Amino acid sequence: MSAERLKNYINGAWVEAAGSDSLEIENPSTGAILGSVPLSTEADVDAAVSAARQAFPGWSSTPVSRRIKSLYKLVELLKQNEKNISRVLVEEMGKSLPDAAAEVKRALENTEVACGMPTLQQGDKVVGCADGIDGETLRLPVGVFAIISPFNFPAMVPFWFLPYALATGNTVVLKVSEQDPRTFNLIAEYIDQIGLPPGVFNMVHGDKQVVEALLDHPVIKGVSFVGSSRVAGLVMEKCAAARKRCQSMGGAKNHLVAMPDAKVSEVVRNMITSCYGCAGQRCMAASAIVGVGDAMYETICREFIAASKKVLISDPLDPAVADEAMVLGPVISARSKAFIQDMIETGVNEGATLALDGRNVSVPGCEKGHFIGPTVFTDVKPGMEIHRTEIFGPVVVILKAADLDEAIKIINDHQYGNGASIYTQNGYYARRFKLETECGMIGINVGIPAPVAYLPFGGMKDSLYSDIKAQGKSVINFFTEEKIVTERYWGEEG
Ligand code: NAD
Repeated sequence: MSAERLKNYINGAWVEAAGSDSLEIENPSTGAILGSVPLSTEADVDAAVSAARQAFPGWSSTPVSRRIKSLYKLVELLKQNEKNISRVLVEEMGKSLPDAAAEVKRALENTEVACGMPTLQQGDKVVGCADGIDGETLRLPVGVFAIISPFNFPAMVPFWFLPYALATGNTVVLKVSEQDPRTFNLIAEYIDQIGLPPGVFNMVHGDKQVVEALLDHPVIKGVSFVGSSRVAGLVMEKCAAARKRCQSMGGAKNHLVAMPDAKVSEVVRNMITSCYGCAGQRCMAASAIVGVGDAMYETICREFIAASKKVLISDPLDPAVADEAMVLGPVISARSKAFIQDMIETGVNEGATLALDGRNVSVPGCEKGHFIGPTVFTDVKPGMEIHRTEIFGPVVVILKAADLDEAIKIINDHQYGNGASIYTQNGYYARRFKLETECGMIGINVGIPAPVAYLPFGGMKDSLYSDIKAQGKSVINFFTEEKIVTERYWGEEG
């Protein structure tokens, strides 16, 4: 892929954006410029939505068994090109190559699940609701959907929605993050080869102007959004006002609770990958650890800090580390790095102990990269700003709780409720944690409890501003309209 300005994909063709403004796309490890992304305008959005609207009648009436044939081809192309996609992803996003490969695999698995749509989209039928009367539920496609995705999983997040929207018979306009758009641009080159009729899938590049145009467009029937809670809230409000369907997934602050009986050596290794993988920029990354009881709090502080000091910090494309899953790469941008540094300063000012400071880390040969080393605060009290805020970097806060009740209270009092995990061998503690913790995704001795593709993915509270999660059965409900038919026929004698 060359370092040129990306094009939009509209009506089955690659087209220049109407607007002339662009943003540079940067390699966050080296600062090298990889290309530029157009800041498309309302006119570009309108062209994409019009194409999707025109494609809808033909695509929605194509038998589902035929619709999924294209998705089978996409599965094959994703498999064949996994390495290529992963490399482009790492270049512009900065996670490790094994992490990128795992992300592409999850995209592929979502496509595989959507290939089951002839079964998944089935309705219900009651024979005999009354004398000679049958009742039937049909699950029908709805129309044109917008999908808007964040920077941290540029390949996977669109796949939480896209294959399901297409397989159920809808048409789509996708807007990926302007910070790392080359990954999906490449995937769109494969989508171009799977035989979808023109207009069924469209992609418009840009920033919030594109999002606003999509939200304001009267033809768009529903929006799947993933990003920060601030924007997720705006998206939800706009969709509600315009009476569009909406699933809007926001930020997170995920807690890991170490009970007094936790297996410390296993637990610390598990915590390290959860907290520092993807430089702490996963929505399921843990960033708050709760040690239960004085002894476990002291042990976790000591062992976690010792392990944090050993984390490998590097450009993930350096051949020396390319196979290492746990490489701490850069954060996405200079802006993000400045925000994280400010938050570290805030933690110091509000009285937490900065036990490990990653601010002055340097990576030889990557002087222009946006690196922050593992950073750990101890003596953190619930409600401190470094505990409340999603820092979205390799910064971990460690809190102490007297018992399980207090640990659960710390989590439940928090505004976010995406994921939380408990480390224990005790079934009673685990069961209570599972039932009482107000988070959408729970781990028991699992540091990143991200559900597999055939189960729903999504949080609670400020992590999800809708009652519909991604993936699984939920998303099929989102992309289909239930129509209920009550029918009877009179016989000749009637
Ligand atoms: P972001 O909110 O800045 O951007 C997300 C999308 O919204 C992008 O496509 C962007 O162009 C657009 N956007 C940004 N500002 C906008 C505005 N003012 N109006 C309209 N559109 C706007 O998020 P990000 O920094 O790209 O991604 C990181 C965030 O996403 C984190 O908060 C992370 O927790 C969250 N996230 C959540 C999940 C989840 O499952 N809940 C998954 C992945 C990421």
